[in-house]
Amino acid sequence: MIPASFDYVRATSLSHAIALLQDDPDGTKLVAGGHTLIPTLKLRLASPKLLIDIRHVEELKGVEIGETIRIGALTTHAELLASDPLNEVLPIFRQAADIIADPQVRNRGTIGGSLANADPAADWPAVVVALNAELELTGPEGRRHVTAQDFFLDIFTTALNPSEVLTAVHISRPLTGTQFRYRKIRHPASGYAVVGVAVALSLKGNSVAHAGIGITGATSHAFTPDSATQFLLGKSLTRENIDEAARLASEQADCMSDHYASSEYRKHLVRTEVARALSSFKA
Ligand SMILES: Cc1cc2nc3c(=O)[nH]c(=O)nc-3n(C[C@H](O)[C@H](O)[C@H](O)COP(=O)(O)OP(=O)(O)OC[C@H]3O[C@@H](n4cnc5c(N)ncnc54)[C@H](O)[C@@H]3O)c2cc1C
Repeated sequence: MIPASFDYVRATSLSHAIALLQDDPDGTKLVAGGHTLIPTLKLRLASPKLLIDIRHVEELKGVEIGETIRIGALTTHAELLASDPLNEVLPIFRQAADIIADPQVRNRGTIGGSLANADPAADWPAVVVALNAELELTGPEGRRHVTAQDFFLDIFTTALNPSEVLTAVHISRPLTGTQFRYRKIRHPASGYAVVGVAVALSLKGNSVAHAGIGITGATSHAFTPDSATQFLLGKSLTRENIDEAARLASEQADCMSDHYASSEYRKHLVRTEVARALSSFKA
């Protein structure tokens, strides 16, 4: 449980971090909260030559609420849980942060670290997919935005290039009256999602005007079941419509299997959790 030796540099700015990354992208790792990276180093699953500590980079901090909401990559789970201005607009951040791990992990782990790591069972990927967020990536060529749906490519694999930093998450202000739910079936040992479901839903009268759904834990990466979101548009939330949306979501999920949960069981959980989330919305 002792990492291989590495050099350590504390980055003083975003451009400093990018310049260091660019020197040797394959032999370098960024460290934010360190709650995934440090255990990975200790187990020697990674042995970078250089660790760049980005925790003091100001450009990666803070939550700004305007026409769009900008969340800096270094924002911790605890800060997302505690932020009243953010949760007045997007209460799903409190719903999800509240059930991520324990206070020690929440105090150090960052949303940027979680998204960049792309653990298939992490919570934030479902939330950013449901909110149709854009992820801001900054590298030597400048800044680009990638939709959350296009960001997650596979297990622990994202659209980040080796010399890019995930700098922020951008979310459009939701329609007035949008309701949010985050539900997860926790793995009893790790607390990660066996299946987690994030939903953002707005109703016009009794009909669904907008539905965003993000699912984590079930498949190799977070995804949106667009067959279900499209089906819901213009429909009322009757028992039959909820059941059909949940069935479509489950059908679209190409589920993983492990010794704790088979793919059939995960498919079943996607169906029941989507149905439970949708059933909790009020017209
Ligand atoms: C005991 C325990 C329980 C946990 N339970 C949960 C849980 O229930 N749900 C959940 O979602 N998570 C859980 N986590 C994960 C935790 O919440 C962190 O989100 C996660 O460790 C990654 O965030 P970090 O800031 O620690 O990233 P780090 O460990 O610092 O980095 C992780 C990876 O991302 C890269 N990286 C970090 N920041 C950036 C960036 N800005 N741009 C590009 N690359 C970057 C690093 O190079 C590294 O490869 C748990 C962790 C532990 C230790």
